[in-house]
Amino acid sequence: MNEFDFIRRYLAAHKQPENGVALGIGDDAAIVRPGAGCDLHISCDMLVCGRHFFADHPPDALAHKIVAVNVSDMAAMGAKPRWMLLAAALPELDENWLAAFCDSLFAQARRYGISLIGGDTTRGDLCFSLTIAGETPRNQALRRSGAQDGDDIWVSGRIGLAAAALRHRLGAFRLPESLLAACQERLLRPEPRPKLGSRLLGTAHAAQDISDGLAQDLCHILRASKLAAEIDAAALPSSPELKRLLPYADWLSCVLDGGDDYELLFTAPPAARLRIEQIGRDCAVPLSRIGRTQPENGADRLWLRENGHLRPYAAQGFDHFA
Ligand code: ADP
Ligand code: MG
Repeated sequence: MNEFDFIRRYLAAHKQPENGVALGIGDDAAIVRPGAGCDLHISCDMLVCGRHFFADHPPDALAHKIVAVNVSDMAAMGAKPRWMLLAAALPELDENWLAAFCDSLFAQARRYGISLIGGDTTRGDLCFSLTIAGETPRNQALRRSGAQDGDDIWVSGRIGLAAAALRHRLGAFRLPESLLAACQERLLRPEPRPKLGSRLLGTAHAAQDISDGLAQDLCHILRASKLAAEIDAAALPSSPELKRLLPYADWLSCVLDGGDDYELLFTAPPAARLRIEQIGRDCAVPLSRIGRTQPENGADRLWLRENGHLRPYAAQGFDHFA
């Protein structure tokens, strides 16, 4: 099998819904027709072997994750994902590996209503870059800069499990089998929240997905919105079992600085609480209110309340060049 067999057999031959695609895989560029009255969102995210995943990562989980992390960026802005392009560097064309990868890739795409419209394939160390495009109704997108003083801070789902799986693998601590399986699943196959993101349009003031650690990602919203915030350690949603098993400092670090959660972090006015709780029920996603924004005051942006005591929290989230 050569490069063009791969593109023809595994990519171009796959039947996909029309989805505004006037011209898909096969020409020099794709042609798509965005919805009338929509803003187009475009972003990309890479997965590099040895950086974002281990070489033994199952191919179906890799395909799951490259779609999930990109859908998560759309969800963070309230955008509906529609199209994607995949740039892949592969050390070899292994048919079994590629079949598993492509089956999972298209299965994920179908779940979110996304069409694969193009990409690039080259030989090289295993690496994927997915470019995703989506839409919001014009001028409705959720931005990091929209938070206001006195907003509630909310987070979806449960945080810190993926980080616990990674730290177990790196030898920082040992998790029991039952808990390890649940945490590994979160690391391998994250579930982004596009439906929640869309439902938050018009209700949330600002949003961001959690990829590099809750504390660091919250600070992105705070910096962009020129605010500070206080969060309550007791309100942080995690796994009760994880909290019971790990020393407190390890648990807190997984939750606040771990990352790879792909949950949504957003702010909204207190008057929207009931509506937000209803949105959570409609989307079948637990939503937790973890703190409140406040005016900027001095160098410390983020404050953590623990057992009635307040201390500044310096985010230690992931930074590739730290
Ligand atoms: P070009 O020489 O213009 O770069 P290619 O031969 O690389 O074109 O690609 C041929 C077609 O296959 C293009 O439509 C391209 O978008 C698509 N394609 C190539 N690699 C991928 C991939 N990994 N995923 C999806 N589409 C791909
Ligand atoms: Mg090309």
